[in-house]
Amino acid sequence: MAQSFGLIGLAVMGENLALNIERNGYSMAVYNRTGSVTEEFMRTRAAGKNFVASYTLPEFVQSLERPRKILIMVKAGAPVDAVIEQLKPLLEPGDMIIDGGNSLYEDTERRVKDLESTGLRFIGMGVSGGEEGALNGPSLMPGGTEAAYREIEPIVTKIAAQVDDGPCVTYIGPGGSGHYVKMVHNGIEYGDMQLIAEAYDLLKNAGGLTNEQLHAAFAEWNTTDELNSFLIEITADIFQKIDPDTGKHLVDFILDAAGQKGTGRWTVMSALELGVSIPTIIAAVNARIISSIKEERVAASKELTGPSGLYEGDQQTFINMVRDALYCSKICSYAQGMALLAKASQEFNYNLNLGEMARIWKGGCIIRAGFLNKIKKAYDENPALPNLLLAPEFKQTILDRQAAWREVIMTAAKVGIPVPAFSASLDYFDSYRRATLPQNLTQAQRDYFGAHTYQRIDKAGTFHTEWAPEA
Ligand code: NAP
Repeated sequence: MAQSFGLIGLAVMGENLALNIERNGYSMAVYNRTGSVTEEFMRTRAAGKNFVASYTLPEFVQSLERPRKILIMVKAGAPVDAVIEQLKPLLEPGDMIIDGGNSLYEDTERRVKDLESTGLRFIGMGVSGGEEGALNGPSLMPGGTEAAYREIEPIVTKIAAQVDDGPCVTYIGPGGSGHYVKMVHNGIEYGDMQLIAEAYDLLKNAGGLTNEQLHAAFAEWNTTDELNSFLIEITADIFQKIDPDTGKHLVDFILDAAGQKGTGRWTVMSALELGVSIPTIIAAVNARIISSIKEERVAASKELTGPSGLYEGDQQTFINMVRDALYCSKICSYAQGMALLAKASQEFNYNLNLGEMARIWKGGCIIRAGFLNKIKKAYDENPALPNLLLAPEFKQTILDRQAAWREVIMTAAKVGIPVPAFSASLDYFDSYRRATLPQNLTQAQRDYFGAHTYQRIDKAGTFHTEWAPEA
């Protein structure tokens, strides 16, 4: 009997998604380039389950019922094209390929056009949630033609994470929109992680908290309506983990040099191309870059001096202030991410429903958080909201907490702790809320040295001035 769903690529994500799909009632065909990986999977995790393994692609394609549905979970980039090229001659019109990797949206755009022109169907689907999400319910962001999505809707709604208002999947939009939204999700994830890292640095080095106290602070924050989230929860856990080799807290033995695979950088590049300001996410990518030059920093630390010291006031007050600063910064970071999605939606005709994006991130994915309910509510109340900062609840929150936010950033500057994402968020807020910015001077300079012209606030038209003082 033919299998109902196919999966190519049995690494961490592929294996877990395959098990998830099978558990939800679908007979599965699986293939992996290296056959020994398939053998191992069939002998262990797939044993006794509804799986058929193939060791050649023709055999794999033959084992599937038509129209075929094949999910590819291989390394992003050239491997995806390689697999598609091998599959193309084996498939028939109406068959569908779904790319679940972290592909660049522009590649997806190209693949959708290329494959749909040959009568095949192609869905670019962002998958978030790491290996645990893949197995038990990820957040899924499928984009492509709507008719193709409707064919896989019954499957993806079953395998996705389930939350109070439905499965964490929706039709995102045409072309590369699914991978675009996944990319921005990852950019927002970079922002969240950097903001948490800065809160940690402040609490540890300006607040003097021990790892036990850090655990307690983050565990407490995780019970709040605003900060309750997967990332805060795992942060609290991390401060409790004891290293078996030393008997001390493991976090203190981890090299402070962060890696990145590219989705954060892609988010920044796209924002710059579209002309959308996302300073918090840029600060988060920059923070990983500067963290990675560890040796150079160690050498510089012996040459360059600056202030240090503790916050002078009450420790619990400081913890609460950092919590407020973290929350205000997080609101600004999401405001930037959502503004980027809104602009991309306009530019690429994605027709994104921003409230739905917040809803499908509520479960399964790394940025899952109670806070996303508030974002969904903001867009439900006003789908044309120009910026999240203008939603009544967020506006009020920042009004109530901005004094603490500013105090934390001043303390950081005073004791020499870098807080690039906290500061970028506050700068974003202060820039967005200001009716006047100093770019009148920038425009004057541009006109002075390059005759770039300027506009005036008191009359219409384009103006140029000979600025240099007469000799
Ligand atoms: P991965 O390490 O990105 O990729 C390994 C898989 O790709 C293996 O099955 C490998 O086959 C296959 N592969 C590599 N080059 C190939 C080629 N030229 N032709 C055919 N197959 C090739 O695996 P992963 O971590 O499971 O991730 C899969 C995708 O999901 C990636 O795009 C990743 O970015 C994305 N993703 C990952 C996570 C995560 O938490 N890991 C989360 C979300 C999304 P062999 O066994 O033969 O080498």
